[in-house]
Amino acid sequence: MPSQAAVLYLADRVLHTDPVSVIHRGGVLVRDGLIAWVGGLGELDRTRLPADIVEEDLGDVTLMPGMIDAHVHLGFDGGADPAGRMRAETDVQQVMLMLRSARELLDAGVTTARDLGARGYLDVEVRRAIDDGTALGPRMLTAGSPLTVTGGHCWFMGGEIDDDRDARRMVRRHHKMGVDLIKVMSTGGYMTAGSVPWRAQFTGDELLTVVEESRRLGKHVAAHCHGIEGIRRALDARIRTLEHCSFMREDGSSELDLELVDAIARSDSYVSPTMNYEVRELMASGEWASPVGELYRRGAKIIASTDAGVGHTRHGDFALALKALADAGMTNDDVLIAATSRAAEAVGLEGVTGRLAAGLSADLVAVAGDPTSDLSVLRHPLLVIVRGLAHVPPSASGRVRAPHEAMA
Ligand SMILES: [Zn+2]
Repeated sequence: MPSQAAVLYLADRVLHTDPVSVIHRGGVLVRDGLIAWVGGLGELDRTRLPADIVEEDLGDVTLMPGMIDAHVHLGFDGGADPAGRMRAETDVQQVMLMLRSARELLDAGVTTARDLGARGYLDVEVRRAIDDGTALGPRMLTAGSPLTVTGGHCWFMGGEIDDDRDARRMVRRHHKMGVDLIKVMSTGGYMTAGSVPWRAQFTGDELLTVVEESRRLGKHVAAHCHGIEGIRRALDARIRTLEHCSFMREDGSSELDLELVDAIARSDSYVSPTMNYEVRELMASGEWASPVGELYRRGAKIIASTDAGVGHTRHGDFALALKALADAGMTNDDVLIAATSRAAEAVGLEGVTGRLAAGLSADLVAVAGDPTSDLSVLRHPLLVIVRGLAHVPPSASGRVRAPHEAMA
């Protein structure tokens, strides 16, 4: 990649999210894709700045860490039948869709995302294209095809396994092909006919095998889990992130098992509650109480995620999921932490991104207004910077000057 000029971004508000604090009239110095300095303008020693520096005063905006969506599917389109489309498409068609999804995530201020289920290692190929600058998108962590039982949830992505031997072989193959983490379907799900969300798919021992083999290869595991037994087994196997964690019962209610909630809160596992369209609709209707509020109040470590790509959930909808977390009872500050520093820690990138600190990747978002008092300002970022490269989302065109215009 070509070397980038050093840019000093100035903003009326610079927002730290570890914990939340605001610097009034501050700046972030970006050099070679990394954050070189963060602070208030009063502390800035201009004599120590590089000679070729470009200054970009963004004015009345909040400049904050780029956001992290811990659960997306680039190969799902967020329409009425995402699985049907995936199954009907060729690999080339899938990759084109995945590149659009990646672009939409970036437009929404998401500078890091985990793809938790794709077929044929297409997610790994897309990640490589983004990493080498061929395609535009967030930093991706990829899981390849989720491990599932024969005919189980999302079997059509190619990750069917039925015993310990299969499990080890699939984890090893995924590692060989370049995935970043392992996804396992601890319970059935909603998008696959014949699969039942409230029932566990794997025994506790099988999950342990998946975790043990993944750990040997230096990989985290994410577990899809709706029903209580599948959540419990995933927790007992010390799986890093519990996806959905809806406590869904056969009658469609989500009556909580409070002992299990407390065990989650005491554990090292994070809860990634995928606040997608269905969940938001159910919450809004009052028919179903999301367990997120109770998990949060009892101390579980919540991270922001959407399941972007599933039914009626577009990759640009990240801010709606953040509002849903607040509606479930989280404070705005904790939502911002869940979307940045805590998410980075959960996905193993705490030394790379998620905070404004010298030495970390220059992953930044500038938004109008102040997200600590109004999360809805996150919906339309004015400027998104990923690994030091500035990107103006189409919805912001004309409202801010792209930094490259200043450099030209
Ligand atoms: Zn998913």
